[in-house]
Amino acid sequence: MICLTLSGNTLSSCLDEIRQNREYIDLAELRLDLLEPEEQKKAASFPSMTDVPLILTLRRKEDGGRCELSERDRRQLLLSALDGDFAYVDIEEDVKKNDVEMKAREKGVKIIRSFHDFSGIPDDIYSRIYRLSERGDIAKAAVTPHTIQDLLTLFRISEELKDVEKIIIGMGDWGIPIRILYKKAGSILTFACSGNAVAPGQVSAKDLKLLYRADQVNERTGIYGIIGNPVLHTSSPLIHNIGFHAINYNAIYLPFLVDNVRIFFALAEYLKMRGFSVTIPFKDAVLMYLGNITREVKQIGACNTVVRMPGMWKGMNTDYYGFLQPILKDIDSGRVKSALVIGAGGASQAIVWALRNRGVKVTILNRTIGRAEKLAKINLCEYDTLDNAHKYEGKVDLVVQTTSVGLYPDFDISPVDFSFTGKEIAYDIIYKPKMTKFLKEAEKAGCTLHFGEEMLLEQGKLQFELFTGYHYPKEAVRSL
Ligand code: NAP
Repeated sequence: MICLTLSGNTLSSCLDEIRQNREYIDLAELRLDLLEPEEQKKAASFPSMTDVPLILTLRRKEDGGRCELSERDRRQLLLSALDGDFAYVDIEEDVKKNDVEMKAREKGVKIIRSFHDFSGIPDDIYSRIYRLSERGDIAKAAVTPHTIQDLLTLFRISEELKDVEKIIIGMGDWGIPIRILYKKAGSILTFACSGNAVAPGQVSAKDLKLLYRADQVNERTGIYGIIGNPVLHTSSPLIHNIGFHAINYNAIYLPFLVDNVRIFFALAEYLKMRGFSVTIPFKDAVLMYLGNITREVKQIGACNTVVRMPGMWKGMNTDYYGFLQPILKDIDSGRVKSALVIGAGGASQAIVWALRNRGVKVTILNRTIGRAEKLAKINLCEYDTLDNAHKYEGKVDLVVQTTSVGLYPDFDISPVDFSFTGKEIAYDIIYKPKMTKFLKEAEKAGCTLHFGEEMLLEQGKLQFELFTGYHYPKEAVRSL
């Protein structure tokens, strides 16, 4: 079930939130602590205003809520709200048996027994969940993973407690995969927001329902994803999930924030993932965990696509292909004979290789000159420092920006001072924002522009084929 956490401070604004999200949700949580005091008193009437089953929650400040009432007054408020027909009531782990619990049981309202940890994952999480469930209630643990190892631990605990009726929430960015894969983790529901997250890391109800189709995940669903750090800005989940949907392919693709590639591979095994994309800064780091790599990966030295093969993981590179597609005609027609490539990171490795493979003369500029030198030697091209960019003004047909400078949220900076003549093709591989400072300067001079989103889509389309064995559906491109 997808449960919308209502964030309004009046009952009517909560009702509006339900109306706006009705088609995406199975139930909603009324957070009494977020309501104005006058509205709190009318909460018992709320269930009769909507057809959506409701959870009643009055969250204390120490558990991440706003309720600062004494425990006696809090109980009174919950008791009077329980006059309404709520389907569930949330009672914290440490609250002793009292009249709220008794009233809920008499009325057949299911009890969710919850605990929260905003600093990490408690060592005794397993036994606490187990103990809470023993009374026949639904155990809820909202904890805060800080590493990919923490996320793996949460999935493992969920598996060990597979027969327990429970809700396990990973708060914050590290927990997003377990919020989306809540069914895989055996949680009866996942909490969603309507726009502004009420708890850290909440995903919108619309995305959970339409983009991830999180409530459709079953034993046969193929799990795919993207690893990176940062990674939550990427549009890859959009490309792949829309593609899966268009061809009725039972699969899901989601972002994984990663700090340790080795442990991510353990998680990928655990989740029986079928493949994943690799982004900044892991395109080199994944290589040592692959049992097989393509000729391109070997020559480029970077991998952005990993696919499960019998008994091993295979690494491929679709960046070089995606980069070339938008400018292939210009290379083949002879318009692009020389290029200046700014940056010498993972993406640049694929781009320089692609251009050299097509016979384009390349000069690489990079902040760390040793990295530019190394890449230039491998690909038989020239290199220079970023400060010498002016030496190439008016002398190249194509200027490619491949560094992460200008990437959201720092979009008003460019890695180089370069005066375009207007005859160059300017290509920035950053896709968020679409129009970077580098491209704005090229546009002012009258250059032809190419955008990171073109490369992203083309490399994603090839990746989709490698993941699924199917062409990327044309109708999916139109809805991107
Ligand atoms: P990477 O391997 O970490 O390389 C980063 C590059 O940026 C290096 O050349 C680095 O220079 C340079 N750099 C970073 N901070 C800098 C600064 N403050 N000043 C000057 N140079 C700086 O990353 P990557 O995988 O190549 O990705 C780079 C960018 O390309 C990212 O924004 C990524 O999102 C984008 N990308 C887009 C696509 C697409 O499909 N459109 C595909 C792949 C990547 P040093 O060597 O000196 O550190």
